[in-house]
Amino acid sequence: MSNEVFYLLFLFGFYTFTVVTYFAFGYAITWLNDRNPERKIQKGRGSDKRRKAEIRQSLASMFSACLPLTIGLYAQQKGWTPTPWGFSWWWAVPLFVLCMILYDAWFYFMHRLLHTRWLYPLHALHHRSVAPTIWSTYSEDVFDNFLLQSFSAVVVFVVPFPAAILIAHRLFEHFNGMIGHCGFEYFATSKARYPSPLLCTTFHDQHHSGFRYNYANYFSFWDRVLGTLAPNYDQRVKAFEDEAPGIAISPSVALMDAPEKAD
Ligand SMILES: [Zn+2]
Ligand SMILES: [Zn+2]
Repeated sequence: MSNEVFYLLFLFGFYTFTVVTYFAFGYAITWLNDRNPERKIQKGRGSDKRRKAEIRQSLASMFSACLPLTIGLYAQQKGWTPTPWGFSWWWAVPLFVLCMILYDAWFYFMHRLLHTRWLYPLHALHHRSVAPTIWSTYSEDVFDNFLLQSFSAVVVFVVPFPAAILIAHRLFEHFNGMIGHCGFEYFATSKARYPSPLLCTTFHDQHHSGFRYNYANYFSFWDRVLGTLAPNYDQRVKAFEDEAPGIAISPSVALMDAPEKAD
């Protein structure tokens, strides 16, 4: 089998896996959300009416999420990049964390560029979801998503990450992105607010509702340093931490009775 055929098969295989897990994880989180209405972040704001359009757009955009990774791996295989480090379990965690830190910086600055007058037309589609749901994760223009994900095609020219780290990172980002858009908060702890650089679902949810804040992906570092953190982010996390009841796995009568309000 030629290299080209192998990487084409990889691309379609990875895309298929992404689509299948998008639906499986999407329905699993929806099931959990239905049982935990108190954990909804934007209370009273219905967001399910865009679901069909979001899923349709996501099927296209998920492809552009898989393409840059395939390009990066192909470039490594062709020898166009520095020779990748060999994989070792000892280095797996530090390299994965390094990959997260670099991706977070890439995401922050690329995302800020997408909010400029010149590039915003590409990004506007993603912001139609003011109260995001799990189905909004990939509801974005294919070029918008390609720019954000092109990290995998570029970083290989700078840091010789082993292929396994790049693949594991894309998978992690897939699920992380879905949790970040699910509209319900399950991760509000002291680790998700100052002085910790970690964050929870409220962070990106506030980017959709407030638009000018919280551009980063994994860490609040860049937003804090460059003054783009939502002013009430830490308080919102603390409030969830203090007030949200335990996570329920039995159906909520309250939710079944409550009619959803439109946007
Ligand atoms: Zn944005
Ligand atoms: Zn988003």
